[in-house]
Amino acid sequence: MTPDEFRQAGYAVVDWIADYWATLDQRPVTSQDPPGAVAAGLPAGPPVHGEPVEAVLADLDTLVAPRLTHWQHPGFFGYFPANTSGPSVLGDLVSAGLGVQGMLWATGPACTELETVLLDWLAELLDLPTRFRSTGAGGGVIQDSASSATLVATLIAVHRAAGGRWRQVGVDRRYRVYASTEAHSSVEKAARIAGLGAEGVRLIEVDPVTRAMSPAALRAAIEADRAAGTVPALVVATVGTTSTTAVDPLPLIGPICAEHGVFLHVDAAYAGAAAVCPELRFGHAGLEYADSYCFDPHKWLLTGFDCDAFWVADAGELVEALTVLPEYLRNAATESGAVIDYRDWQVPLGRRFRALKLWFVLRWYGVEGLREHIRRGVALAARFADRVRADERFELVGPHPYALVCFRLRGPDGPNEQLLAAVNAAGPVYLTHTRVGGRHTLRLAVGSPQTRQSHVDEAWELISRAAAALPSGG
Ligand SMILES: *Cc1c(COP(=O)(O)O)cnc(C)c1O
Repeated sequence: MTPDEFRQAGYAVVDWIADYWATLDQRPVTSQDPPGAVAAGLPAGPPVHGEPVEAVLADLDTLVAPRLTHWQHPGFFGYFPANTSGPSVLGDLVSAGLGVQGMLWATGPACTELETVLLDWLAELLDLPTRFRSTGAGGGVIQDSASSATLVATLIAVHRAAGGRWRQVGVDRRYRVYASTEAHSSVEKAARIAGLGAEGVRLIEVDPVTRAMSPAALRAAIEADRAAGTVPALVVATVGTTSTTAVDPLPLIGPICAEHGVFLHVDAAYAGAAAVCPELRFGHAGLEYADSYCFDPHKWLLTGFDCDAFWVADAGELVEALTVLPEYLRNAATESGAVIDYRDWQVPLGRRFRALKLWFVLRWYGVEGLREHIRRGVALAARFADRVRADERFELVGPHPYALVCFRLRGPDGPNEQLLAAVNAAGPVYLTHTRVGGRHTLRLAVGSPQTRQSHVDEAWELISRAAAALPSGG
């Protein structure tokens, strides 16, 4: 493909994406086709001769787009949002076009330096503790996902618990990781990958109403493990749990970690984005105790997957835990000690120029634009919660500090399961569920950039009508 052919095909692809976004609300949010429908529509092998891009676009129209879950749809209220935006796509396009490998500073100096500066910008924007800035001992890096951030934090924590000798000792089953019963599954996965075994994870009980980690139970578990001869290495506290957006109390958890020399990682994958608004920073109280922190701009901050922002207070410790330097990567800049080589800050060696999409997003929206996006989501969620509260058939399940509302029909699980199925089958909206205290609970998460008041009101109307139409009468 020559540059001129690329130009022509590229315009067509950009047009295709713009048309997709402009007509999203005319589609059902999810596909109703059975498994195998897409595979059955594809030829058995690749084409022998090349085809024009138009042929691929035609297949996108007929084969792919109708059989997707449309995450950018204004009626998408499932899981958490996975935002993208025009500037994010354009930044990613530039990254793809440059095709730079940013593993070392020397393999693309701007790729590294832009990322360092943007993570400092973001730290400022979220008002994170100054210890995370690159101007001191700390610094930030873009990981692919919050799961990777948890894994890296686990590796640093174990390195620290081993007195800086983890590289020598390797797998050691004595180390313990603590997180609440509501913490993300990536905590257990990271412990397994780090060789601690699933039994190395202690799940700490939560408050039955707020679903936040009990500091007393955490202290008791750490003390019992120390008495038994095991080594408490890591606490993962969550700001905005995946199930219900519960906020673990950092001001109480932090001092326990400090007292016992335990590494504290704070996972704010979803809720961290809210801190761009000064009035939504409550979850970050006590963050000065944290050794590392992450949030996903790819969830609620208009930046396409993958973009997890991860900070550490001590970059030296991180590099010590992860670095392996083969001869073929040696270079003068690394040896000078004056540069960051981000390959040492993550599990893979290679890395894309992900800072570009973040840069495009920050510059297009500006701080005020990002705040407006977050505030709209929070306000629409509050409006929806008011509807639920005013209808005696329903109950809210726990608080809704951000833009996720958990709710259910009063009474048994069965009608709630039927309600969710009926609402999702209708087409215009999509919700998911969770279990809270053992009870089937519906989740409505606002956050798609296209979602407006009319979409949230429509969701409520649909839910209300579907509840009335249930065999049990709602
Ligand atoms: C979504 C989520 C994750 C996982 O996010 P990825 O970036 O997809 O790995 C981790 N922790 C919490 C609290 C989450 O909500």
